[in-house]
Amino acid sequence: MSQTSNLTVVENATCTFCGCVCDDIELHADGERIVQAKKACSLGKSWFVHHTAERLYPDALIDGREATLDEAVEAAAEHLHAANMPLVYGLSNTTCEAQREAVALAESIGGVVDSHTSL
Ligand code: SF4
Repeated sequence: MSQTSNLTVVENATCTFCGCVCDDIELHADGERIVQAKKACSLGKSWFVHHTAERLYPDALIDGREATLDEAVEAAAEHLHAANMPLVYGLSNTTCEAQREAVALAESIGGVVDSHTSL
């Protein structure tokens, strides 16, 4: 990471948008927003520059109401414990570490994993 004028430059950033996982992206950020994503394709550029450090949502929601993270984890555990065939689904735009945790969770609760690509 380096600093040029008022921008922070991050080299060799990874794009997780489409699954190709390009890992040579050069990002320029102004402290709140990525303003440039060199070497990314048009999809990756659009994905990066539309991210912001603004907080748009609370940490957790339960039935549409704001909740603490601890409350949300407790509620999720109750739902998963009560489920007959839990489905761990989604995982697009998700880091490898998070995917690894999701698979471990599915294994520990006897569930299955599927991604949005099955659509
Ligand atoms: S830069 Fe483009 S091709 Fe590479 S991972 Fe991102 S969206 Fe996919």
